[in-house]
Amino acid sequence: MVLQQALSDCDRAWRNFFDSLKGRRAGARMGPPRFKKRMGAQAIRLTRNARFRVLENGRLRLPKIGDVEVAWSRQLPVEPTSVTILKTATGKYYASFVVSLNHDEALPPVETEVGIDLGLKDFAVLSNGRVIENPKFFRKLERKLKKAQRVLSRKVKGSANRAKARLAVARVHEKIRHQRDDWINKQVAEVVAENQGVYVEDLSVRGLARGPGAKSIHDAALGLFTTRLGSKAARAGRTFAKVDRFFQSTQLCSVCGVLAGPKGMEGLKVREWECGCGAVHDRDRNAAANILREGQRLVAAGQAETVNASGGQVRPGTPGTARNPRDAGQNEEPTRTRLVPTSR
Ligand SMILES: [Zn+2]
Repeated sequence: MVLQQALSDCDRAWRNFFDSLKGRRAGARMGPPRFKKRMGAQAIRLTRNARFRVLENGRLRLPKIGDVEVAWSRQLPVEPTSVTILKTATGKYYASFVVSLNHDEALPPVETEVGIDLGLKDFAVLSNGRVIENPKFFRKLERKLKKAQRVLSRKVKGSANRAKARLAVARVHEKIRHQRDDWINKQVAEVVAENQGVYVEDLSVRGLARGPGAKSIHDAALGLFTTRLGSKAARAGRTFAKVDRFFQSTQLCSVCGVLAGPKGMEGLKVREWECGCGAVHDRDRNAAANILREGQRLVAAGQAETVNASGGQVRPGTPGTARNPRDAGQNEEPTRTRLVPTSR
C-alpha cells in the first residue's frame, strides 16, 4: 500500500509537469519532479484500504506495525480517509489524518479592506496604521541556529559527535518551524477576519531591494505569510490580490498620486518624506495605502487573477497608473505620472 501511494504521488507529479508544459495547468511553469532530500524525515501514507483504524481506547492500529499510542491534538470530526505517518528529522512521529468536511469556512462579511506593506524593520505595516512587529524569537532562534551549525561544522565527518550535532541543528530547525508557523497563522487569521479585501505586494521586489545574502527566518516568514494569507482569504471568501513588482508603492504619494518619494537604495533608508502637495508620509504606511488602492484597481479591472496565477506582471504602462518602470526614474516631471484617484 505504501509503495503504491509513493507510485501514485510520482504519477501525479509527472502529470502536473506535462499539463504545465501543455499549458493545461494554472500557475507558473513547473519543472519535472525531482528526488526530494528528506534530511532525515520520512513518511508513509495509508489509505482506508490498508485497514488502519482508530481504536476505542484511543490507539491507532496500523497494519504490520500494531497499536500505537497517540497524543491526540484534537478529536477527529469524522472517519478519516487516510493517515500519513511522519517521522521528523529529530526522530518524532506524527500522524496526520485526511478528513472530508462539508462545512463552509466563509467568515461573516465586513466592510473594511486593507493594503499590506511587507517590512524590512517591521514585519508588516497595514494601511489602517496597524504595525505587525517582528517577533523577538526570530533573532533569538537565528542566533541559536548559527551556533548549532558552527558546532556541527567542527565535527569530524562520520563521527558519533557529528551525528549528535546534526540532530541538534535539526532540533533548532524544528523549533523555528513550529514557533514561526504558529505565529504566522495567528497573524493571518487576524488580518483575514478583520478585512473583506486583502492586498499585498509581490515579494520578488523585496529580494532585489535586500541584495545578496542568506535567507533569514524573517525573509522566509514573509513568503509564508503571503502564501497563507492567500489560501486563508480564499477559504474565508475574502478578496485577495498581489500587486506586481513594477508598482512604485514607496515612491507614490498616496494623497495626490504623484511619484515624488525617495528612490532607489537610498530611498530605502528614508523613513519619512514630504510630498510637494504638503502631505507628510511614513514610508511604509504610505506604501500600504498605495498597495490597497492598486489592489482594488486590479480587482476592479479584472486583472488580479492574472497577477495571481502567473506571478508575473500585468502589462506596464496601463493608462492611469505609474507602473511603467521608465517613469520611475523621472522625478523631474512628476505631473506626467499622475494617478487617476480612485474613490475610497
Ligand atoms: Zn502628494
